[in-house]
Amino acid sequence: MFKLPEGRYCGYLRKSRADIEAESRGEGDTYKRHEKILFDLATRYNINLSKIYREKPISGERITERPEVISLLEDVENERWTGVLVVEVERLARGDTMDQGIVAQAFKFSETLIVTPMRIYNPLNRDDEEYFEFGLFMSRREFKTINRRQQDGRLGGVDEGRYVANIAPYGYTRVKLPGKGFTLEKHPAQAPIVELVFRLYTDPDPTKRMGTALIAAYLNEKQIPSAKGKKWIVATINSMLRNIHYIGYVKWGQRALKKKRDSKSRPRKSLADFFHKKGLHPAIIGEDTFYKAQEILYGSPQRSAPSKKLSNPLAGIIRCGMCGGAMQRKPYRGRNNQTPPSLICSTQYCKNVGSYFDIVEKKIILGLKQWLAEYKSRWLETRPEDLEKDNIKLRVNQDTLRRLGTKLSELTEQKKEVYTLLEKKVYTHEMFFERMNDITREMTEINNVIEKVKEEITLEENQATAVKETIPKIEHVLQSYFLEEDPEVQNAMIRSILSKVIYTKEKGGRWSGLENQFEIEIHPRKY
Ligand SMILES: [Zn+2]
Repeated sequence: MFKLPEGRYCGYLRKSRADIEAESRGEGDTYKRHEKILFDLATRYNINLSKIYREKPISGERITERPEVISLLEDVENERWTGVLVVEVERLARGDTMDQGIVAQAFKFSETLIVTPMRIYNPLNRDDEEYFEFGLFMSRREFKTINRRQQDGRLGGVDEGRYVANIAPYGYTRVKLPGKGFTLEKHPAQAPIVELVFRLYTDPDPTKRMGTALIAAYLNEKQIPSAKGKKWIVATINSMLRNIHYIGYVKWGQRALKKKRDSKSRPRKSLADFFHKKGLHPAIIGEDTFYKAQEILYGSPQRSAPSKKLSNPLAGIIRCGMCGGAMQRKPYRGRNNQTPPSLICSTQYCKNVGSYFDIVEKKIILGLKQWLAEYKSRWLETRPEDLEKDNIKLRVNQDTLRRLGTKLSELTEQKKEVYTLLEKKVYTHEMFFERMNDITREMTEINNVIEKVKEEITLEENQATAVKETIPKIEHVLQSYFLEEDPEVQNAMIRSILSKVIYTKEKGGRWSGLENQFEIEIHPRKY
């Protein structure tokens, strides 16, 4: 059976004119019947419904006459739901093709599933053409016309300087305009961060400028949350630096481009590709600063692809302790190649000081030898005790697993009871959802613990055998590493035992006598 992805699901109910007529002939409550269909569907796919949108019986057939479908579409556009359950797809849109276009568009852009007892409409499935057309009313041509008409509508908003997207860019909040539409207002906490990012990136003194990776690291270090409350990444900083809303412009076009999936290699779009116009909202960044940032962004060439032949045996392993970027091996330089290869951070303006490559390489192998010696002695000397301890831990973990399994089946039973109580009308819908959500939350928590315990058990079970096989393997790598001349082979060897090395050097020049004053942090693979 097809499995629905985990996530948040809701249902939508609407009576058709035929339903209302049938009811007047005394054929029973349509909503009661349809609700049962949706709950059965939810049980079949093992999902919970967090909300049911229920259209008032007197509502019309067109979207504009149906307040609940409008609120549903708003939530769909804001990516609130993983999927929407309906008894048949016609309940969402019927009659007028314009309505179908609006519904199709909302579901397509937010990649929201439509689940019916007959089939699942999946916008993530590129072949599921029917999804976009709902397989019912619309020819592709009609859909395209509607699509264009809607884009024009959005562009109308842009023409008047309104903000037409659903979510405000970082640094702003979206506010309702007195008449129609929305505009942006500066976010008191976020706007200064936007200013800071641009200032760090475009400092008048080029030696003080920070690259995108360094800025991301800087903000994370200062524990400034990103828009989604997560860590900053290079891509976010990059898109921030390109966002013309910060100089008071509005645009349209990007979202549609982002979601377009038919061409794999899409040329990078420049500002000229977007429709833009002076907006109604205040700027955060001056135009001079913004265009300076564009100059730096587009002026610095994309990092060239690495040459086919690997020359750095530590490639993919050694990272910068200051910015988190990759450390590079710079080949021999100078007349007669008298300067040996060095190891430097590849991030522009990162303050991490480089070293001679071979010194670092030797120190890593030495460090690994020390680590292995400790690992071996710990394993060999305290082995019987460890085994005993591991045994107890393993038993406890297995007990926990059994206990949680029982608890989980109890909760599944409770879920069934809750359905029964709703059917018997002991529970109201509010009570039903509240209880259902409690159970789901508890099940999710238990599942998380089960995953963790299972991981621990596998680790414990594998450890004994793994260690026996691993020690000789590591010993072999350490003995033969410097005998090997092909950097690619060396890289494979070192990757087999190391997951990463962090390199930090605060100060020192080539002639300062501080060649060895760096720190390395070795992270062997977990066995
Ligand atoms: Zn760095």
